[in-house]
Amino acid sequence: MARYIGPSCRLCRRESVKLYLKGDRCYTDKCAVDKRKSAPGQHGARRTKLSDYGNQLREKQKLRRVYGILEKQFRGMFEKAAQRKGKTGELLLQGLELRLDSVVYRLGLAASRNGARQVVRHNHILVNGKRLNIPSAVLKVGDKVTLAEASRNMAPVLAALESTKREGHGAPAWLKWDHSSFTGEVLAKPAREDISVPAREQMVVELYSK
Ligand code: SF4
Repeated sequence: MARYIGPSCRLCRRESVKLYLKGDRCYTDKCAVDKRKSAPGQHGARRTKLSDYGNQLREKQKLRRVYGILEKQFRGMFEKAAQRKGKTGELLLQGLELRLDSVVYRLGLAASRNGARQVVRHNHILVNGKRLNIPSAVLKVGDKVTLAEASRNMAPVLAALESTKREGHGAPAWLKWDHSSFTGEVLAKPAREDISVPAREQMVVELYSK
């Protein structure tokens, strides 16, 4: 699946908000958003008042960029959420959070969603005992995510787990992590209050409903 491979910090500067795309660096004073407030590009410093459409577009772009998904796939996820009963925006967020790469990130096995995607793509993850290397696979309640035995000494994974412990932000309430077996479990679907993303999903719904 295609993905954006340009500079991550540029995306945060474009949205004028920290999207936490680079792991530990995002928590240091090297963060590009903290250093430069203007949007990237020649006219980045120019302030323009956005229209309703402009605001909705920015919210959609933010959400897409947080999860590292290109437009076509994101739109597909929206369409699926819209077909289900319930609040479309919340169902969209829920689907995004339940992606395998996002769950691996939330369990603390990678410092960023980009890193989690690499961990999955490189065959380090088993779901319910079977290798699964598809970052976009959507997990269900009860699914178990295990770090393969041969991968348990990988420096980036150990550093990410250590950082998660140090920062005191373990797995969210809807996930469980057992360090002795390097296994996580999806206990429940995440509720809206469990999902902290700097985007207003209702505006995405309004944008796509035009
Ligand atoms: Fe870069 Fe992270 Fe700061 Fe975004 S939050 S600008 S990715 S360092």
